[in-house]
Amino acid sequence: MTVIDLESYEGALATYDPVMGLEVHVELGTRTKMFCGCSTELKQDANSQTCPVCLGLPGALPVVNEIGVESAIKIGLALNCEIAEWCRFARKNYFYPDMPKNFQTSQYDEPIAYNGYLDVQLEDGEIFRVQIERAHMEEDTGKSTHVGGATGRIHGASHSLLDYNRAGIPLIEIVTKPIEGAGARAPEVAKAYVAELRELIKALGVSEARMEMGQMRCDVNLSLRPHGTETFGTRSETKNVNSLRSVERAARFEIQRHAAVLNSGGTIVQETRHFHEEDGSTTAGRIKDNAEDYRYFPEPDLVPVAPSREWVEELRKGLPELPRLRRQRLKEEWGVSEHDMQSILNAGAVDLIVATTDAGAPSDQARKWWMGELARNANETGRSLDELPITPAQVARVAALVTSGDLNDKLARQVIEGVLAGEGDPDTVVEKRGLKVVSDEGALGAAVDEAIAANAAVADKIRGGKVAAAGALVGAVMKATRGQADAARVRELILEKLGVEG
Ligand code: ADP
Ligand code: MG
Ligand code: ZN
Repeated sequence: MTVIDLESYEGALATYDPVMGLEVHVELGTRTKMFCGCSTELKQDANSQTCPVCLGLPGALPVVNEIGVESAIKIGLALNCEIAEWCRFARKNYFYPDMPKNFQTSQYDEPIAYNGYLDVQLEDGEIFRVQIERAHMEEDTGKSTHVGGATGRIHGASHSLLDYNRAGIPLIEIVTKPIEGAGARAPEVAKAYVAELRELIKALGVSEARMEMGQMRCDVNLSLRPHGTETFGTRSETKNVNSLRSVERAARFEIQRHAAVLNSGGTIVQETRHFHEEDGSTTAGRIKDNAEDYRYFPEPDLVPVAPSREWVEELRKGLPELPRLRRQRLKEEWGVSEHDMQSILNAGAVDLIVATTDAGAPSDQARKWWMGELARNANETGRSLDELPITPAQVARVAALVTSGDLNDKLARQVIEGVLAGEGDPDTVVEKRGLKVVSDEGALGAAVDEAIAANAAVADKIRGGKVAAAGALVGAVMKATRGQADAARVRELILEKLGVEG
């Protein structure tokens, strides 16, 4: 790998202001493709989900997916955009083997949504407004696999395999206006914007927006200009960055790289760049001057899209609460700090906790289980919280058993362990494992008597006023009852029987 000179981050910011542009592609969760009836299910054999339309065979005619248009309008509305009264698709002509038609059906000068904004919250709580240029509809390409080389890239490969199952899956591309004025916080703004956009897309229900699965990916455009100047510098475009952390790192790296080039008297080349997860660096891709010519022209095989104002207003009425405002509301309802709310968000636990409280659990219990025991299990087994084989209703049931005194925390953890292990729902696990707090005073009293008898010396110390020694007896009783006793009650009983005040 070539060694790239970097300026220090502080050094770069001392001389330059970064300007960014973020282009985010979102794969919609429609059942069928954008212009044909092929399934969007990707788990099938290569090239099994294709037809003459998405393979671009001569004479095949596309038809627009209504849910695709509806999703685009919802996204546009949620981003405070204007929705076009009339717009068309366009052919973006280029040749690449993963695109069987030799053009991508996209939108060009007539996007369905334009001129909006998204407010994002930074870590210190400040709100930064990101202006949106446009959101337009297009389709995904197929997938090429380059075989025989060391890197998996085309360079050095002996041959390539093509799978067109993904070709024609609906995409929405959301493009920001140049983001200015973020200064040293530009990388943080980029990350916060993509995070907020992802939450918004999920809340709209138009896509699961899983970045690790390529359902959402971001191109990071970045340029620098000296403090006090207006004209934008030349930008680089780091393609297909696919995690929030990587978006932040890519922006940061490019700031440092641009500054080093400019400070040494060099010029920035307008090019695409690849991001490398291992070390957070970027390397040059293809040169991209503005003369790039896709010979766009309106798609003659598709009718224009003219969403009625009634439909648009109906969709506007159906928009969910904005994620940022919802988070604010939940934070207040739950009485948690900004920091804790951030952790809950990062863990992907917001919706799970809400569903658990909806199922009747107190919010502190819901938070405690999802952010404690369950987060730990998810972490250990390399799963996300929503992939765990336990439902919010089951967590709520465990919480109810704790509240009613049938389970203590320790037993509740065992119940959760049992549910995760596939032993059944909480009541079944309680039943099968025989997990119940021993609340029968007679049985508890007997266990306490036994422990006192077996530990006479300790008992004497306690009688003599050394109340702290009671812990040893509590431990003995808990052991004898296999953890199924209420420890606080055991302690009370011990002190009572030994005639000392707690
Ligand atoms: P392209 O199709 O070449 O990627 P777009 O106009 O679709 O061009 O997207 C470019 C993105 O970069 C937009 O978000 C735009 O606001 C932003 N951008 C344009 N010029 C600059 C610049 N000089 N520096 C930083 N960002 C820029
Ligand atoms: Mg671009
Ligand atoms: Zn098809």
